[in-house]
Order: sequence, then C-alpha cells, then structure tokens
Amino acid sequence: MQIRIDNSAGFCWGVVRTIDITEKTLAAADENETVYVLGDIIHNPKEIERLAKKGLKTIDHLGIEQLAKTDEKATVLIRAHGEPPSTFQMAEDLGVKLVDATCPLVTGLQNRVKRYYDKGYQVVIYGKPNHAEVIGLRGMVNDNCVIILSEEEALEQVDFTKPTVLFSQTTMEKYVYHKIRDVIESKVRNFVEGGETKDHFQFKNSLCKEVWGRDEEVVQFAKDNDIIIFVAGRNSSNGKSLFKHMKQYNENMHYIEDVEEIDWNWFEGSEIVGITGATSTPQWYLEKVKAAIEEWSKSKETVQI
Ligand code: SF4
Repeated sequence: MQIRIDNSAGFCWGVVRTIDITEKTLAAADENETVYVLGDIIHNPKEIERLAKKGLKTIDHLGIEQLAKTDEKATVLIRAHGEPPSTFQMAEDLGVKLVDATCPLVTGLQNRVKRYYDKGYQVVIYGKPNHAEVIGLRGMVNDNCVIILSEEEALEQVDFTKPTVLFSQTTMEKYVYHKIRDVIESKVRNFVEGGETKDHFQFKNSLCKEVWGRDEEVVQFAKDNDIIIFVAGRNSSNGKSLFKHMKQYNENMHYIEDVEEIDWNWFEGSEIVGITGATSTPQWYLEKVKAAIEEWSKSKETVQI
C-alpha cells in the first residue's frame, strides 16, 4: 500500500504566523504570567491541545472582564480571524494587555471594508454571519452591512439601488462567490452623478489565495488516490468546503478529526492512500495519521503471510 501526504496540506502562512507569535508569547511569559487566547486559537482541537499543554488558556469575551479583576499580569492573544474594534476598546478600557496575532490579510480586509463603508457604499459580505472573521468585519461598519450565503439571499437582501461593494470572508467558495457577483452586478443600477454615468458596483476579490490557490492541486490529489483521508477540525470552515469540493472528484473520501475515527474497512480494495486537510490542520498531525495507517498496513501484511 502506498501512503502519501498532500504537498499542499498543512498550515497556511497566516496560521503559521499566529502560532509563531503564540509560542513566542508563551516562552516570554514568566511563571506568574498567564497567556490567554480569545476564542479557540485555530479550528483544530489537536493544535489547541498541544498549545494548552504549554500553558495557553482559552477564554471568551466575558473572560476578559473577569481577568481585569483577577489577573493583572494576564496577556490576551487575538487569533488569526481578528476581532472587531470594540474588543480592542474593551481591553484598553479594562487595562488588559493584548497581543494582536490577526492574519495581516484579515487586517487588510477589515480596513478595506471600513474604507468603502466610509465612502457611503452598501457593504455586502459573502460569509457566515457568526464566523469570528465575519464578526470582526461587521464590527468595522457598526453592523451596517448585508451578510449573505447564496445568490438567493443576495436577491432578497441587497438594495440594488445603492452603490454597492461586495467582499467575501477569506475562506469561502470561489464558485459561489462569483455567482453572487454576477447576480448583484446584473441588478445594481448604473446611475447618473454630476452628469457622469458610473458603475456603482465594486467587486473585491477577498478570498484568500492560500485557500483557493490549492483548488487545482487538491483536485489532482483527489483523482490520483484510491482513497482520501481528510483531516480537519469539525468546525473548520475551510475544511468543510475543501472536503465538499474534493469529494466531487473522489467519492472514497473520509473526514476525520481524530485518528481514532478511522474505520479500517474504508481501505478495502484501495492501494494508494492520500492524506490531506484544511489550512488549520497541523503537519505533525497529518504525519501521525500517516504513521497509524502505515502501522495498520504492515500488520495486515504480516497476518496475510
Ligand atoms: S487562510 Fe489566508 S486569510 Fe486565513 S489565516 Fe490563512 S493566510 Fe490568513
């Protein structure tokens, strides 16, 4: 049996950077200092567990208020998804020290959304309303924006008479995003301003290349293997959409979060095994899954002899 890991798998650079900042902050803390992160550091329970063993504690927004009263030396990390301005303001008001590990691409997107809002545009975002990144974007415009997940929702919720700008959460699906763009573009009216006709629709390609740039590679990987073991956190947005995309090219795909979930019957009749995952899946865990499959494969051969 041939077992291989997808070359394009492993953390994206934004997550690598966030984890690096986290490790350095943990290493710099003395024994009386505790490092917290606001929300899960990434959507992967294995990496959360690894960092928790090094002392990282996860808190929610209410937890920041508690810290202000109980732990003067606390440091709170902001994860790659970013936070709305209200979180930074709250920490400042309470005197809680923050370390901002937001992915620079997300920070750039937040600033662009704010710029268009300030210019008077209706801001439309293709994304999940309660995803941390979208909550951060909503905060940039005081929640004065339209959040949609489909063309149907665009038709129902967008005011096509207004100058409109369309953005996307960084990890959404390219195909759906472009369909939403086409629908809005065809509906937003051109209107005359100062004697000049202007196109009042702006489309911003805010999908992350670290996600969509893998499209072709993962499709080829899906086609080249008899079976695919897809490793990602159950709450990984990128994981769910990548899995759905790949499954169109290989029906024999299985989504796992933990190596213990593997059912060895899945491998019946398969010779080439591919292992891949989301941008939040650590390389070390992909290696662990590979080692487990190799061990099982060897034990099977021994039994056959
Ligand atoms: S997927 Fe892209 S935007 Fe999201 S953390 Fe990674 S590099 Fe940043």
